[in-house]
Amino acid sequence: MKALANYEIWFVTGSQHLYGPKTLEQVAADSKEIAATLDASAAIPVKVVFKPVMVSPDSITELMLAANTTPACVGIVTWCHTFSPSKMWINGLKQLVKPAVQLHTQYNRDIPWADIDMDFMNLNQAAHGDREHGFIWTRLRKDRKVVVGHWKEAKVQEKIGAFARAATAWADWQGARFVRFGDNMREVAVTDGDKVSAQYKLGFAVNYYAVGDLVKRIDAVSEKEIDDLIAQYEAAYVMAADVKKGGAKYASVRDAAKIEAGLSAFLKEVGAKGYTNTFEDLYGMKQLPGIGSQRLMAEGYGFGAEGDWKTAALVRAVKVMGTGLQGGTSFMEDYTYHLDPANTLNLAAHMLEVCPSIAAAKPKLEVHPLGIGGKEDPARLVFDAAAGPATAASLIDMGNRFRLIVDEVDVIKPPHPMPKLPVAQAMWKARPDFETACTAWILAGGAHHSAFSLSVTTEMLEDFATIAGIEFLPIDADTKIRDFKQTLRTNEVYYALNKGWAI
Ligand code: MN
Repeated sequence: MKALANYEIWFVTGSQHLYGPKTLEQVAADSKEIAATLDASAAIPVKVVFKPVMVSPDSITELMLAANTTPACVGIVTWCHTFSPSKMWINGLKQLVKPAVQLHTQYNRDIPWADIDMDFMNLNQAAHGDREHGFIWTRLRKDRKVVVGHWKEAKVQEKIGAFARAATAWADWQGARFVRFGDNMREVAVTDGDKVSAQYKLGFAVNYYAVGDLVKRIDAVSEKEIDDLIAQYEAAYVMAADVKKGGAKYASVRDAAKIEAGLSAFLKEVGAKGYTNTFEDLYGMKQLPGIGSQRLMAEGYGFGAEGDWKTAALVRAVKVMGTGLQGGTSFMEDYTYHLDPANTLNLAAHMLEVCPSIAAAKPKLEVHPLGIGGKEDPARLVFDAAAGPATAASLIDMGNRFRLIVDEVDVIKPPHPMPKLPVAQAMWKARPDFETACTAWILAGGAHHSAFSLSVTTEMLEDFATIAGIEFLPIDADTKIRDFKQTLRTNEVYYALNKGWAI
């Protein structure tokens, strides 16, 4: 994955000629200072690039078209230091396709009580300039994030940073390729969906590749490549005697390494950002990829099991959003519960494929039988997820729209060891409570699969949904089932009608 510092957001200040050159020079100087401060902020992982103050319809249109065609530009921040009549912005905003933040700030934090006069009032009038500006975005039905507060405040910078992360993940999706080895798991509904809609609405392509071609690539892997991977395994994981050289299961580890090398090479050759596979279609493969899929996720690939291409794409997007933050991101599945009313817990895992980026400690490399798929015993990394607040996100296809559901959860250290559990796991308590969270998730149609993250927040995911123009349903400490049900009903009406408004 590319470092987020390779991307940029453009800082665009609106004004007008009315104030004369002296005021406009001051506006430009203040804007430059704000842009430079945001650029230097550790909370904003992308570059913030100052752009000349906008005072005419032509320059605004030119700038928006330039933003559209500059690959490094993932979004724009607009702000009106002064008043900037918004009819000037119509043509530019109409053509803008990049994500946007409307920053409602003011150069000065405090009113200069003793000195305030009309010149000061005319120069520092974002309070009404941004209202005129907000009207035109809203009038054009163009969604954007609105961030309010003084530009030096940490909270304001963090909100712009969350947007920048979401905007970068969105840019990463545009033109991305996701590979499907085999089709969707037979008869499963939620993991399927409309790939044409996804490509049109979300920007990424999902195409099928023959498992036989993957097997051919795996067969071409050299003994040296396998040795190199085994050396990496030995350095990074706890290896029991039976999986080490000379151990009874060593051959299985070599087979797994061969699969990983072949899979990695195949994905690079296709230029894919993620992939799906299914245990129902492994013809010619010795094992279902376990450690291979786990390590490819850790490298930044999106992954979805059982043909779940939407989750594969979402895992990739969430990984991009979380770049450089503490805590990892993984493909995840709600698996089983502890239903003690005094301490209800959700045990999430998958039969193999959980990303080691979320591990609390050094993972153990183990080989165990897999009771599904009819292949040889696969190698996998076994670990507990690190404790802490996390999000679990599910992207589903409602037929007329995509819906993103996000549950806020708190990962805990399991109250008891589970020595016979042969897979990585995350144990959590969902917010606001088990009953409400499960009721809301199920009413919303959320999948059993999710993109789980210890680093990416609900705010980033909400910004991402806003950018994508898709439905967003958070389940958090404030969720109440009666209100949630009403939101589901209201959204059905909204998404049925929202293409019909004349602008
Ligand atoms: Mn699954």
